[in-house]
Amino acid sequence: MVDELRVYRFNAGSCNGCDIEVVSALAEHYGLQNVRVVEEVEEANTMVVVGVVTTKTESHLRAAYEKLQDPKLVIAVGTCAVSSGVFDGSYSVRNPPETYIPVRAYLNGCPPSPHSIVSALRALMARQDSEWTAPKGYRGLPVVDAEKCTACGACAIACPASAIEIEEADEGKIVRYLHDRCISCATCELVCPEDAVRLKEERHPLVAEREKARVETKFTTVQCPVCGSGHITERHLDVIVERLKEKEALKAAAQELRERSKLERTCKIRQLAVGKQLLFKLGYG
Ligand code: SF4
Ligand code: SF4
Ligand code: SF4
Repeated sequence: MVDELRVYRFNAGSCNGCDIEVVSALAEHYGLQNVRVVEEVEEANTMVVVGVVTTKTESHLRAAYEKLQDPKLVIAVGTCAVSSGVFDGSYSVRNPPETYIPVRAYLNGCPPSPHSIVSALRALMARQDSEWTAPKGYRGLPVVDAEKCTACGACAIACPASAIEIEEADEGKIVRYLHDRCISCATCELVCPEDAVRLKEERHPLVAEREKARVETKFTTVQCPVCGSGHITERHLDVIVERLKEKEALKAAAQELRERSKLERTCKIRQLAVGKQLLFKLGYG
């Protein structure tokens, strides 16, 4: 428990979106007790970092941290500060703040709402990262239902924040949600053809360890009987076959597709003729 948070705002390279929300959160309206903003870092015991760390601000960030009073609490606020977000890899953008100074907690969002920031500061004061309660209006973070997901990759293509990865692994595919990059836009929810992903409040944006902000699900793939490679998940194949079966006339074609689909897309031995025959059957049979 910390009796009072004396907050110094460090703008590492933000668009000001997060900074404005931090200022709003510290206004009287939100009723934060025992939290005040200070203008000089030497008077602060807490630092709120917003924006990406850049080549110009990296040394200033280190220097500011050194001047903080104990217990030197640092919270990275906003997806830019948490993971560099969509700016990761830009020529002037350095690594996220924890590379240079110890970070106590990460609060993502683009920007996080004042309610989220207030809730995070309260949790920080109580030193209870796990006790964070979803504030009013919080949209949540995406949670994948492994029973429904086919690992089709539609969500990864559509995500504007590059927060979803589909990885081809040994005998399977991995669907990885990078919550430290997520901006809770819900595009994945909209595009998912299987209704397999939902934004849920139970995944909250304040985490003390970055690994906890990355969630992955592994799916086994059907193996190509010719070369042994896998490219489509069992679940994806089942879904395609079920949809074809919905039309009585296509039952036989569905069975054939099940067999043909096991062939790896890049398999050298696979004949173009196989695909042509099947398309002919589906179109004119
Ligand atoms: S997270 Fe969004 S609002 Fe915050 S600094 Fe980055 S771009 Fe701006
Ligand atoms: S779009 Fe839906 S089914 Fe496809 S990988 Fe994403 S969560 Fe899974
Ligand atoms: S809600 Fe979904 S689409 Fe939007 S940033 Fe997060 S992972 Fe990407």
